[in-house]
Amino acid sequence: MFTVLKNVELYTPEYSGIKDILTACGKIALISDRIDIWQQLRPEVVDCSGMVAMPGLIDQHVHITGGGGEQGPGSTIGPISSDELMNAGITTVVGLLGCDGVGKSMEELLMKARALEADGLTAFIYSGNYGIPPVTITGRILTDIALIDKVIGAGEIAISDHRSACPTRNELAKLAYEVLTGGMLGGKAGIVHLHVGNGREGLSPLFDLLEFTDFPMQMFVPTHLNRNRSLFDQARRYHSGGGTIDLTAGEDTDEGINVPQCLVALVESGNGLDRVTVSSDGNGSGAGPSQNDAGSIMALFNDIRSAVADHGLPLELVLKTVTENPAKTLKLYPRKGRIAIGSDADILLADKASLTPRMLMSGGRLRQIFTLKK
Ligand code: ZN
Repeated sequence: MFTVLKNVELYTPEYSGIKDILTACGKIALISDRIDIWQQLRPEVVDCSGMVAMPGLIDQHVHITGGGGEQGPGSTIGPISSDELMNAGITTVVGLLGCDGVGKSMEELLMKARALEADGLTAFIYSGNYGIPPVTITGRILTDIALIDKVIGAGEIAISDHRSACPTRNELAKLAYEVLTGGMLGGKAGIVHLHVGNGREGLSPLFDLLEFTDFPMQMFVPTHLNRNRSLFDQARRYHSGGGTIDLTAGEDTDEGINVPQCLVALVESGNGLDRVTVSSDGNGSGAGPSQNDAGSIMALFNDIRSAVADHGLPLELVLKTVTENPAKTLKLYPRKGRIAIGSDADILLADKASLTPRMLMSGGRLRQIFTLKK
């Protein structure tokens, strides 16, 4: 019930120096230079010398029930396990469907989110799939968000993709109304999580919607914006105008720009990384030649580490894209996305020198990270 992480170099994500952290009943109870007055509580004491502590990662785009299915019934990908997520340093996940709203169902997605929570993760879901009208549980996006605790928005709704329903401005506006109102009634973030494909229009449908309607920009989170250069150029314009942009980790195609390079470009342009988030697209259909290799959940932290180790960006800055920023976007902050007194005890511990993940605390439960595969 009580754990003291001793002598850890703390990134809240801001750099805070060497600290001791006391966690109690799943929450962060105390952060101090030295905690040694708690012996009567019989805490588990873990010496974290040589390690850095950072908030557990928030991955807002994971195909938790599996993606794929685009090469026929034999091509679907199976569900992800809680072990896979935790070994990737993730403590909060948002699950979604994708192209396949037939072989995979919203009911299955909701049950999987509950199963991940039973294993100690925090899990939410988006209602919908690529298409319009999107698949739902209650028959409407609005009532899914308002009534079902785990549903915090709609997604991933596809635009500018040969697999999208080519939603008109009016159709997108009606969807946004359902999400906005469902979020207000349910006390949720109410996010429209948009899959943006390689189609010729790029982000134009979103620019168009915002120009001719009154929806707040912050309710939209377009993703995969680093999949080609012209889309990333549009994304930078959208970000400069106040929008939130989500980049997909593990991008390694000839047309795409990998996440570390995108982050460097955003920092160098002076726009900074506020309202920039990164997600893995984990366990979905990959972008490889087969179009069927599951996206890697490990890519999320690997890209963060590369941005620091290979590109010289400060850890405290890059970390925000997978902790504080998504927590703010999803209205989970400061319960999530930050190591502070009163926040959930979600902490990733990594070797300071190599930034290799070693231990993960999720909801106050500490576990070793054993496997490190790509
Ligand atoms: Zn997608």
